[in-house]
Amino acid sequence: MKHSVAFFAVQTIPALIVTATPASVFSAQHLTRATDVAHSYDCLIIGGGISGLTVADRLTEDPKHTVLVIEYGYFGNLEDIGTVYPPTGLRKSSPAHLYNITAVGKYPAKVFSPPDSNLVKQLVGVPLPVKAKKEIILAAGAIHSPQALQRSGVGPKTLLEAVKIPVVVSLPGVGQNFQDHTSLNVGYNFTTNAWPNPNTLKTNETYRLEVDALWNSRKIGITSPEISLKYPLMLTTTLELDRSILHARAHEQLCIPPLPRISPNKSEELATAYKNQDPAAYLPIGTDKSIIAGYKAQLKLLAAGIRSKDTAWMQMASSPIGSTAVTNLHPLSRGTINLNVSDPAGEPIVDFRATSNPMDTRLFVELIRLARRYLATQGVMKELSPVFFNPPLNVSSDEDLGAWVESVLLPTVYHPIGTCAMMPRELGGVVHDELLVYGVERVRVVDASVMPMLIGANTSQTVYAVAEKAADLIRGLLKKKGRS
Ligand SMILES: Cc1cc2nc3c(=O)[nH]c(=O)nc-3n(C[C@H](O)[C@H](O)[C@H](O)COP(=O)(O)OP(=O)(O)OC[C@H]3O[C@@H](n4cnc5c(N)ncnc54)[C@H](O)[C@@H]3O)c2cc1C
Repeated sequence: MKHSVAFFAVQTIPALIVTATPASVFSAQHLTRATDVAHSYDCLIIGGGISGLTVADRLTEDPKHTVLVIEYGYFGNLEDIGTVYPPTGLRKSSPAHLYNITAVGKYPAKVFSPPDSNLVKQLVGVPLPVKAKKEIILAAGAIHSPQALQRSGVGPKTLLEAVKIPVVVSLPGVGQNFQDHTSLNVGYNFTTNAWPNPNTLKTNETYRLEVDALWNSRKIGITSPEISLKYPLMLTTTLELDRSILHARAHEQLCIPPLPRISPNKSEELATAYKNQDPAAYLPIGTDKSIIAGYKAQLKLLAAGIRSKDTAWMQMASSPIGSTAVTNLHPLSRGTINLNVSDPAGEPIVDFRATSNPMDTRLFVELIRLARRYLATQGVMKELSPVFFNPPLNVSSDEDLGAWVESVLLPTVYHPIGTCAMMPRELGGVVHDELLVYGVERVRVVDASVMPMLIGANTSQTVYAVAEKAADLIRGLLKKKGRS
């Protein structure tokens, strides 16, 4: 039996509202007052991020369709990115804000999104008397789409009972299966200069003439491929300019190796350990059996992928300023996004549970060893004689490296997914293959939360692809006659 859901998120949150009616997003109207909102639209889209605006744009290509996008945050401030505080305070990105999140566990993250205060005054507590004639489309991202479902009575029954929200549909997977890429930095100092460097222009006549000739004939300079291929160590600044920082011409190096390349000696042992894991042991106590079954199915897929020589398993991004960011692209740990039992109307509790599956720590240990091996023996970086300090080289046993990993790990690189996963319901899935929520009528999720497992890459491209597919599905629905 399918239920209709009264959508709580639409009515209670402060919001910036965009309507696209009737043409494309380029002629969308920004509505800043509740009184400007019409009483019904074909589709309501909750969330005006990548997926929400992609779907809105596509749907309104046909001027017959009316769409209301409700956006909690605000547009236009490019400084407005997230801030993560790891336990050591090692890295803190710009002082910006994304979501109102309270994170728990040993990897706390604080990310805020203060809505525009005038807008809040206008809209707080004002129920928007707006109806979706055809469909409600959830595009609030992997943190807030599950929150909206849970607040609307669709989610894990025990959680809903604990927060006294009437259960509309018992759907254990909502807010579970939470994944994000995890990352840490390996630090080193370069101790030698390289040749040529910008100073060489002054000290080496042959080199200077060659560079001048290139510039005069083709207006290309010392950073051009012609020069950098011939002199791969060309530097854009020198030890003389800054003794602690060398900017190698090589700029950034990125590699995304499979496990057999990361750890030729241990990959078979690690793959076998993956396969033999007891899935229930690494999920929160009391996890529903459907979620355990889904996790077991994922472990099986991951165990196959980890053996493959063609599957990017981890990422190593070496920067010329003395650090290499290493990232686990396929973490095994699974977190949760659940309503706060002591404040269900507030922001959800984000529990990354990073490294709750110890295999994730073991993989990082191998990746640090690869970074040390690679940087000390290969390519451009070797020529600059890196001396590692973070972790220091005397931190070398599995145990010591593992402890270091857990003390510095960033639980997110802002790629949250999985919390409304497209999987079979009996495996803890939330949406089926047309992105419609199980057991609910006309509620679709179109954002990163539907991805059941992390991809070995940044997430936005896939989110665009999901949103394009969703738009196709919804356009098909809108064309059908007789639905209202
Ligand atoms: C700082 C940062 C850097 C990134 N860099 C990259 C990168 O370089 N490459 C890459 O591929 N990916 C990157 N990503 C990831 C990428 O941005 C996400 O994968 C993508 O935005 C997810 O799209 P989405 O539609 O699921 O969610 P979002 O784009 O996050 O959109 C969700 C929207 O919903 C709104 N919202 C939330 N709750 C509500 C509510 N209750 N009511 C109404 N609106 C609500 C939010 O304000 C937000 O605008 C980055 C992310 C961040 C935060």
